[in-house]
Amino acid sequence: MLDDVDLERYSRQLLVPDVDVAGQEMLAAATVLVVGLGGLGCPAALYLAAAGVGTLRLADGDRVELSNLQRQIAHTEAGLGDNKARSAARAVSAINRGVRVDVIDRHLDAVSMPAAVEGVDLVLDASDRFATRYALNRACVAAGVPLLSAAAIRLEGQLALFDTAAGGPCYRCLYPEAAADDGGLSCSENGVLGPVVGVLGSLQALEAIKYLVGMESTLRNALLVLDLRSLAVQRLTLGRRPECPDCRP
Ligand SMILES: [Zn+2]
Repeated sequence: MLDDVDLERYSRQLLVPDVDVAGQEMLAAATVLVVGLGGLGCPAALYLAAAGVGTLRLADGDRVELSNLQRQIAHTEAGLGDNKARSAARAVSAINRGVRVDVIDRHLDAVSMPAAVEGVDLVLDASDRFATRYALNRACVAAGVPLLSAAAIRLEGQLALFDTAAGGPCYRCLYPEAAADDGGLSCSENGVLGPVVGVLGSLQALEAIKYLVGMESTLRNALLVLDLRSLAVQRLTLGRRPECPDCRP
């Protein structure tokens, strides 16, 4: 039930007919796992907290470094050296004390991932490692939890919603093989502009809100590819790969 303070705090999004009181209550009842509190996960977590998502589970084993502050907007100079999930949890609580925050301050792997995904309505993949992405994908497929995956590098970004419980493809249907190293994904090797991860992390939060309030997602079975140099947007249709080892029945 929304009280008067909630009605004022969320008044602008309550005015959006697709949200309204029913949607706001769905957000308040939702639990979202954000894996990676870097350039994508920071804006995504902040927007989800501001929107009133009831429980955020924030997972990251890295520490805040000076070179992160150019784009990872939940972290501050005062938080240098702190665990990123804890640092982001502080920023989330500063925006909205009503959000319950669970901190997972270590790297998730194939062993620890299933417990992190348990009881979650939606997972945001904002990590920068293929090993983490694959382990997360497998845990989401096993638990039947939809996976909203974003990536960004240089001036380019991608976004997709993988919902295998609804018959859609999984992350590994799109990326069957991990790169030999993480160079293909790494901002430390290839660079990235801050607003590029900001755009992608914001889109990730937007799609999460749409999903949680029951709006139809046009990202289902699709990959959104953004070239933020030319501002060209492509939407590619994705299909299941029958031989995919991760989502094969
Ligand atoms: Zn698959």
